[in-house]
Amino acid sequence: MTPRYGVYLHVPFCRRKCGYCDFYSATVLDLAPAYLDALVTEIDRRASGGSVETIYFGGGTPSLLTPEEIGRILDRVAARFSIEQDAEITMEANPGALSRERLADYRAAGVNRLSVGVQSFHPEELRFLERIHSAEEARATVLAAAEAGFARISVDLMFGTPSQSVEAHRGNLLAALALPVEHLSVYSLTYEPETPLGRALKRGDVTPASDDLDADLYEATIDALAERGFRRYETSSFAPRGAECRHNLRYWRRREYYGFGPAAHSFLAETRRANLGETGAYIRDIRDGGTGAGETERLTREDALLETVMLSLRAEGIDLAAFGEAFGEEERAALLSRLSAEIAEGLLERAEGRLRVARRGYALVDAIVERALERRVR
Ligand code: SF4
Repeated sequence: MTPRYGVYLHVPFCRRKCGYCDFYSATVLDLAPAYLDALVTEIDRRASGGSVETIYFGGGTPSLLTPEEIGRILDRVAARFSIEQDAEITMEANPGALSRERLADYRAAGVNRLSVGVQSFHPEELRFLERIHSAEEARATVLAAAEAGFARISVDLMFGTPSQSVEAHRGNLLAALALPVEHLSVYSLTYEPETPLGRALKRGDVTPASDDLDADLYEATIDALAERGFRRYETSSFAPRGAECRHNLRYWRRREYYGFGPAAHSFLAETRRANLGETGAYIRDIRDGGTGAGETERLTREDALLETVMLSLRAEGIDLAAFGEAFGEEERAALLSRLSAEIAEGLLERAEGRLRVARRGYALVDAIVERALERRVR
């Protein structure tokens, strides 16, 4: 059978760094031409053939690359793999400076799904997050994308900025739903220690939302979106049935994918590989004849079991038959027994052959995953 993959392409550039962001990206764009050469070389050196079901340009800010540059990368993927006829090809884009013509050119280059980093429609929240765009620019970008022929548009929103009320967050959700979007990714603001916002928290300069408010904001998200037919299919992902991001589903289902570019991750033949994270080091390694590899880890059966539990509980639930087949009936019984209290409390439910987090358990998913992974019977 022809192997089937997802392909992730990391674009490590942003115009300006947002205060909360710990993704790898640089604000100096002069490495872009060398990065592009290195990226297509990495594809040449590593690609094994097979077919590609999904492609995802993430970052960073992929929309800083021109449509021609995106097209050049896609051509190289097409030369090394067979891109399926109905492949999902997503590009992350940030609002502002994206005209309808430029968006139409991305569409013509082959991108058929756009993920727009809006985060908020409230000016003060956008300022706090240090986003470089306004709410109006965000709206204009989504509308221009639809006019440019994108039928599949997702919007990212963030909740939990200091002093944000549930009402203000609902306002953000409704503002997004008023646009032609088929998918929302809604994240709780986190304070990563190595970011300016994380340091501000440490100094006591910001007061984060309380855990209770955070849970209320999350529940408000689920309810407001469910009313519009956007069901939660992963902790932060909402879409009507059939509009899920197929690329992200591959991650949660532990399907194989290549990751190309600095800091990109791959999962192939039960091996996880992280590319060199720093763009200069990545380019040098490729120029020296390497493939940009950083760390590689071959997973044991135990690792695979833990990953399956962790990823599935955050998404569609554990397919109990497949789990028993992969890890044995004894493991399946042990898992159900470890989680018997959560099942009895209604935090977990068994439905459609899966063990999944129930509505009551959504806000407690981290604790449930922790319980699922502890006291493993070996
Ligand atoms: S949040 Fe997005 S736009 Fe902001 S620095 Fe991070 S990757 Fe760049």
